Amino acid sequence: MSGLAKRVVALLSKSYSSAAASPHRTPSSWRWLSHHRVVEPTHRDEEIGRRCYSSLLLSSSAAGYHVSPSSSMKGAVFRDPTRPLSLELLQIPRPQAGEVLIRTKSCGVCHSDLHVLKGELPFASPCVVGHEITGEVVDHHPLTDPKIVHKFPVGSLVVGAFIMPCGSCFHCSKGHDDLCEDFFAYNRAQGTLYDGNTRLFLHGTGEPVYMYSMGGMAEYCVVPANALAVLPGSLPYSESAILGCAVFTAYGAMTHAAEVRPGDSIAVIGVGGVGSSCLQIAKAFGASDVIAVDISDEKLQKAKIFGATHTVNAIKEDAIEKIKTITGGMGVDIAVEALGKPQTFLQCVQSVRDGGKAVMIGLAKSGAVGEVDINRLVRRKIKVIGSYGARARQDLPKLVKLAESGIFNLTSAVSRKYTFEEAGKAFQDLDQGKIVSRAVVEIM
Ligand SMILES: [Zn+2]
Ligand SMILES: [Zn+2]
Repeated sequence: MSGLAKRVVALLSKSYSSAAASPHRTPSSWRWLSHHRVVEPTHRDEEIGRRCYSSLLLSSSAAGYHVSPSSSMKGAVFRDPTRPLSLELLQIPRPQAGEVLIRTKSCGVCHSDLHVLKGELPFASPCVVGHEITGEVVDHHPLTDPKIVHKFPVGSLVVGAFIMPCGSCFHCSKGHDDLCEDFFAYNRAQGTLYDGNTRLFLHGTGEPVYMYSMGGMAEYCVVPANALAVLPGSLPYSESAILGCAVFTAYGAMTHAAEVRPGDSIAVIGVGGVGSSCLQIAKAFGASDVIAVDISDEKLQKAKIFGATHTVNAIKEDAIEKIKTITGGMGVDIAVEALGKPQTFLQCVQSVRDGGKAVMIGLAKSGAVGEVDINRLVRRKIKVIGSYGARARQDLPKLVKLAESGIFNLTSAVSRKYTFEEAGKAFQDLDQGKIVSRAVVEIM
């Protein structure tokens, strides 16, 4: 390495340390940088550091990375449903061109992960789950477009969306990032990124470990840049992780599937993490009646904070009848099903008025089938619409702004925080219905 390159590495390591000084940031360990001598930079030095970053990556080593091949990290590895999640040592992953290495701050605890952990959604194993994260950018590939490096410089804080668009397939090229072909063909079907390879390997044996989205339940993760947005320092660093799935899913459903208009009446069936985010988005979009349906009084009580104008406990009363009563006998303009159960799928369709939209966002067990009254669907022009998420490149920055403006309250949406060592317990609690809205695992 040249003298200049060494100096720039030192400057960069210093700038990472100063980035960690904000109230929202935790001091970094920077194990692989520790052998570099840190010098006090001047303003001019920092300028040089920024400008030289790309060329430094090209010249710093044969591989072009700061990360030593022997560096390791902890990840929560899933092997099969009979075994608990275990924190194991993995190699620190290396981003390919267009991907970003992130030091994970926090990762949300979602039912989709739980479906994988319970064996209800088939997925490659061993794997690391976790698909809504915040963290700090630590590295880029030497051949990554400089515009990406400029947008997400080392040291910047980011939030990652669970649908990670390739950016160039048929659907992505039409702006429909939520339908990205590569995401489904590679990540969801094979547990890899879009060259067909995972970025995760066990430390020591080198055994491949697959990735559910970015594999966020680990100290470091690799995320395609298309799935990232810059996280402003004004937003809570841990809680903002839920922007990447709970809020992202709700926003996609309300914007692209339901196309909510001010004054619409909306019922949300299942007001956990995603459902309660739907309430907040519905309120933000000017919905008139916002009806929360659940079987937990605690969740229904909290739903009022998120904008529910009415609550229905589906164990104590007939949810469809109650929704009709609230809407003057009509049914709601839009009903959202956030549980992925055949019974609530049917309830959702039955809750909408003639010409209304039943939006399905809850993932079910593999092979689950929902029933629809065909004649009503045909005669009364009912729309049944599936919606998996939102469009990362267009929507994620908007979600960040919604949160920044206070329209979406992240702090009240996160009801519980777990340490990394408690990741297994977090999923256990989710499975037992003990998490009122959304939980996050604080990894670093
Ligand atoms: Zn999720
Ligand atoms: Zn794509």
